[in-house]
Amino acid sequence: MNIILLGPPGAGKGTQARRLVAERDMIQLSTGDMLRDAKVSGTDMGRRVAEIMDRGELVTDEIVIGLIEEKLDGKAKGGLIFDGFPRTLAQADALADLLARHGEALDAVIEMQVDDEALVRRITARSVCASCGEVFNDETKPIPEDGRCSNCGGTEFTRRGDDNEDSLKQRLLEYYKKTSPLIGYYYAKGELRRIDGLADIDEVGVEIDKCLDG
Ligand code: AMP
Repeated sequence: MNIILLGPPGAGKGTQARRLVAERDMIQLSTGDMLRDAKVSGTDMGRRVAEIMDRGELVTDEIVIGLIEEKLDGKAKGGLIFDGFPRTLAQADALADLLARHGEALDAVIEMQVDDEALVRRITARSVCASCGEVFNDETKPIPEDGRCSNCGGTEFTRRGDDNEDSLKQRLLEYYKKTSPLIGYYYAKGELRRIDGLADIDEVGVEIDKCLDG
């Protein structure tokens, strides 16, 4: 099964994608993670994208489509989860072409609906395990009381460079201007499923499972 998790920053796409990887042998393709890897790699591309990401703007379609194309050969029994991609109509068209070329199709696009005030609260409360990237949130999934990451036991936690109020405003603006038209696009194609992204993490998981299983 190949799915897209669609939703604004802070909707919980990454958290749910990681659960699906663990439970269903799926592969998570997060363009945000790929770009963050490029940022620290010291390559030309890394330098070009670093500033754009820190400002909360979208990186060019060409770059992210290229990143996804490189990863599409990886096969997982459970299928692919596109997390944070596509984010523009051009990316959505490119994804349809790429999947067709690989003999694959899209099975569902799951829109995780969350209201804007909750997003701002969630993002400003977010931290990430420095060792494994597990995401924690003071509101929805606090760091365990012993101060150790529940996934890997790591004790260092960092914040994403773009998880501040200025970048967040820009990221929301980009979402509404460029990404939200995808909701209508996938609705018209009959692929859209909507779930309440504000429910607690396990309940959101159950709703996603329902979309996948039936
Ligand atoms: P994310 O981790 O998905 O929130 O992405 C973090 C940042 O990476 C975004 O604010 C963009 O600057 C960039 N980015 C990630 N995915 C894309 C994409 N599909 N298209 C353009 N820019 C992206």
